[in-house]
Amino acid sequence: MDKRLKVIIENCPKNHKCPAVKVCPVGALSQKENEAPTIDYDKCIKCGKCSNFCPKKALVLVEGEE
Ligand code: SF4
Repeated sequence: MDKRLKVIIENCPKNHKCPAVKVCPVGALSQKENEAPTIDYDKCIKCGKCSNFCPKKALVLVEGEE
């Protein structure tokens, strides 16, 4: 089944530079100021690095969801 990366906005404290942005190997994450990161779905290869990295679980790979 297909996976899809989701940002769980309410899990993100939105008060720091997102360290997961630098973890992404393809530059699919971006962040405006200290807001929750956004995902470029054209770039994301669903590797799960960012979801394993974020200690707040604000980035999650979900199964087969739009
Ligand atoms: S799942 Fe992988 S490719 Fe997609 S945004 Fe996270 S780190 Fe980047």
